[in-house]
Amino acid sequence: RLGAGKKPEWLKIRMASGASFASTRQLLNRHSLNTVCRSALCPNLQECWSRGTATFLLLGNICTRACRFCAVGTAAEPPSPDPLEPENIAMAVESMRLKHVVLTSVTRDDLPDGGAGHWVATIRAIRAVKPSLTIECLIPDFEGNEYSLDLVMAEAPEVLNHNIETVPSLYCKVRPQASYSRSLELLQRAKEEFGLTTKSGLMVGMGESADELATALGDLVSHGCDMVTIGQYLQPSQAHLPVERYVTPVEFEAYRVVAEKAGFRHVQSGPFVRSSYHAEAFSNTIEAL
Ligand code: SF4
Ligand code: SF4
Repeated sequence: RLGAGKKPEWLKIRMASGASFASTRQLLNRHSLNTVCRSALCPNLQECWSRGTATFLLLGNICTRACRFCAVGTAAEPPSPDPLEPENIAMAVESMRLKHVVLTSVTRDDLPDGGAGHWVATIRAIRAVKPSLTIECLIPDFEGNEYSLDLVMAEAPEVLNHNIETVPSLYCKVRPQASYSRSLELLQRAKEEFGLTTKSGLMVGMGESADELATALGDLVSHGCDMVTIGQYLQPSQAHLPVERYVTPVEFEAYRVVAEKAGFRHVQSGPFVRSSYHAEAFSNTIEAL
């Protein structure tokens, strides 16, 4: 077990760039699109963009929440959503060689529907230009508002993703405006009411114990969650929650085994795994479900 001193060797970011990286960046800039890759300072940006994939961030890049681990900017009343964003994302997606696209958004507790209508418009705009594409929606909790949740879930995205992020004992420290049970209920609703394929994710190295992690994985499975991602938390800046420790690759492998034994159909566990990392690899699982 390593504490949170200097970054270990396995967390050195692999740089990759080239023509594909540049063209992904140009495309996103041309359509003025936000990505969680950039807004959340994702360590995989070089790799993913070089592979021609990105995760679109809907509803602007300012969030009404202030999770202690997240690099996205925060304000009580962010600017109004760009009504052209759904069409712009669809245009960008049309020109990217993707089989699977991941959409996510900031949380907009300031909007009456939490931004659910904007989500629906984006899903429909993408389907209009590329009906064969599978769509993964990494959604916020919409404060548990069933009207908003149902609006998005009724669009039947191929994957409904919602991260619990951490174990319940750390919620007040890590996600003070969220609720563990609300997030589990959201996943259960997606499965039971809408029959969706569901996915969640956690960051480790924040102070959780292995037993707490195993319990949280069991909670996800018992709420109908099909797939899970487990990755190392990295502190985006000095103002954010410090890393408690660096989990070793061997431990990540052990977590993968625990998750598979808990009953998940697909597991990704590793230092650089993020909620949308290699999301297209889940496509085979989607077909099998
Ligand atoms: Fe973007 Fe997800 Fe890749 Fe990170 S893992 S760069 S958020 S697509
Ligand atoms: Fe970041 Fe999401 Fe939390 Fe907003 S709700 S601060 S985007 S993790």
